[in-house]
Amino acid sequence: MLLKGKPVADKIRADIIHAAEEYKKTGDTPKIAILRVGAREDDIAYEERVLKNCRAVGIETEVVALDLNIDMESLTKEIKRLNEDVNTHGILIFRPLPAHLDTEEISRIIDPRKDIDCMSPVNIEKVFTGDSNGIAPCTPEAVIEILKFYDYDLQGKNVTIVNRSMVLGKPLAMLFLAENATVTICHSKTKELKEVTKRADIVVTGVGRGKFFGPDYFTEGSVVVDVGINFEDGKLCGDVDFDIVSDQVSAISPVPGGVGTVTSMILLSHVIKAMVLQKKQ
Ligand code: NAP
Repeated sequence: MLLKGKPVADKIRADIIHAAEEYKKTGDTPKIAILRVGAREDDIAYEERVLKNCRAVGIETEVVALDLNIDMESLTKEIKRLNEDVNTHGILIFRPLPAHLDTEEISRIIDPRKDIDCMSPVNIEKVFTGDSNGIAPCTPEAVIEILKFYDYDLQGKNVTIVNRSMVLGKPLAMLFLAENATVTICHSKTKELKEVTKRADIVVTGVGRGKFFGPDYFTEGSVVVDVGINFEDGKLCGDVDFDIVSDQVSAISPVPGGVGTVTSMILLSHVIKAMVLQKKQ
């Protein structure tokens, strides 16, 4: 089975549109503020995609474009302004920030209830303590949403994640634990990786190496979620050698058209979740 991202993203999009319409009836329009320091080409391209996606679901936007040389004091002031603005529900700060800015400190300044990209240590702690009142990082949440959409019961499943970063492997392990899965995290020093991945019911790959995983890493029962984003010969591909592996496993998510498609919609769903959290207090 092909675990395509589009139907999952479509469902999340429909839910966001519905929630945004309901909020508008009460006079509240969901709004995201994008805070960009400098004008890096990839930031601008990402910003355009987020703005287009927001327009399509009825989320208002504000772009706060700041000078590359902005100092901590001025940046802090901008974030505090957005924290206090009752009409702004989600704040997205593009990373990496320029080296002269202290990202750790910035992550502590953003209001956790507006932190739609899980920068704040408060939200990270909530992921690790299993508190669903936080906002999880988008990519790990997208992995879980894909598996749930395709009706995989995660309880008791053996899951192997090949990645131990804070944007993917570690928080994803916590989300799987919250679903009562049994989780193994692998990394570059793991021994007999093929044996570990073959023992798992579900394998999540995120090594960032194009076509790294061939058929010898899986069994015919494997469910594979490929998070990798790589360019090989100018073409986008995942960590799994899709053309060879896809016929030899039970299910696999494609790249492109898999996790990435869902991740961008999860980000927008966090604006709605942020609204709910802000209404609670
Ligand atoms: P990262 O910090 O570089 O992490 C890579 C992980 O892979 C590390 O844990 C590393 O182990 C492990 N690894 C590297 N080579 C390995 C090997 N030969 N065997 C076993 N493990 C190995 O990267 P990241 O930021 O987490 O991102 C990972 C990938 O996901 C990238 O391709 C990125 O583009 C993609 N990504 C996709 C999305 C999406 O929405 N689809 C979002 C974010 C990231 P060590 O810890 O030992 O170094």
